[in-house]
Amino acid sequence: MGMSISNEISYPLRSTLYNLEPIGIGTSMVESLTSYLIRLSNVHNLRIKSLIQYLIYPLFSESADYLKSNDSNFNRIGRFVDGCTLLTIEFINALEHLTSRMDLRNLTLISWNGITNYKVINLYKKWCPQCLDKMKEENGTFYQPLLWNIQYVSICPLHNCPLINTCPSCKRSQPALNSKGSIATCYSCNTWLSTDKYKNDEVKINCFDIWIASAIGELIIDTRKILNSPIIKLIKALESVFTDITIPIESILVFLANKYSHKTEIALKLRKDFIIYGCDDKYTDQFYNLLGLIYIIGAPVQIIYDFSSFNVSALPILNDLKDCKIKYLRNKKLFRDFDYIIHNFYPLPSPEEILRITGDTDNLLIEYIEDYLEERNILIEYNNEIKTRKPNKRR
Ligand SMILES: [Zn+2]
Ligand SMILES: [Zn+2]
Repeated sequence: MGMSISNEISYPLRSTLYNLEPIGIGTSMVESLTSYLIRLSNVHNLRIKSLIQYLIYPLFSESADYLKSNDSNFNRIGRFVDGCTLLTIEFINALEHLTSRMDLRNLTLISWNGITNYKVINLYKKWCPQCLDKMKEENGTFYQPLLWNIQYVSICPLHNCPLINTCPSCKRSQPALNSKGSIATCYSCNTWLSTDKYKNDEVKINCFDIWIASAIGELIIDTRKILNSPIIKLIKALESVFTDITIPIESILVFLANKYSHKTEIALKLRKDFIIYGCDDKYTDQFYNLLGLIYIIGAPVQIIYDFSSFNVSALPILNDLKDCKIKYLRNKKLFRDFDYIIHNFYPLPSPEEILRITGDTDNLLIEYIEDYLEERNILIEYNNEIKTRKPNKRR
């Protein structure tokens, strides 16, 4: 016998917990979900562990049962709550239900799972001491912006100062979720996390780190629009700027690395990654490489979610790509001519003859052949030396 339907009473929708408003929605400094969780537990005088264990976990879907953590790894789940994982979805659903708010997904990177993975959120917190001071002066409400929790963000775009990641007193790393519910103080020794020491610190900050912090800030503002990574499309578009020739991305990167000293480091890192892992490897976080590539070519970061309006021929580096093409073609001819000369002539022709045969107007090939001969002679000498040495040793 089933229960009669008339016995079911429906209550008007009201929330179990306060409808606490998240800080900074729609801005690059939006609060992280872990920070919201801590503030929520603090306004209810609940321990954060109890909030999760007694109110959130019971709302998990059945299939997510295995995601519930025990006490021992409680400190480590922050990365999954703020990121783009299955646990993120469960926390959003449970908290939206408990607070009757529908905007809590904006406090996570849930829409970014097409461009990155769980590693995008740092294992421990980072923070800007000047921002903490500002919060103190303004209204005393402390929170941890999502931006600071992103692994690749190492400076504060508002103050252009490095983010700090250890307690100024006990030097401990700070987990995003901690049983004390602390945000601006150390979870272990209670020290205020901002120090006035930063004012004297002179730390060298590189351009890419500054760019990446504000680019990620812009993506956070448009977080809902992010769907998938255009890294392969972007690479293909760059490789085939010229219809008559396709230049491999590795050659483009080497060219740009030589041309711009402030882009050299990231360009060479990207080249290495593309060669080792390829550009569609599922096991590495391509998000960082995607940002690097966007930075190097000078495209707007918004192409991550709006690739259709991306126009290669409007890129500021278009003229560089033309130079790159000239250099690429010159190198191809150089290697072709080198093979031809080395394999078809003995003894080798004079420099004048080489110019006549190849039609070259520069001395690149001649220098290349000279270097080759010099290296070969050194190698021959070295080999001879070893040959004459070896029998002596045996005796
Ligand atoms: Zn700041
Ligand atoms: Zn401490």
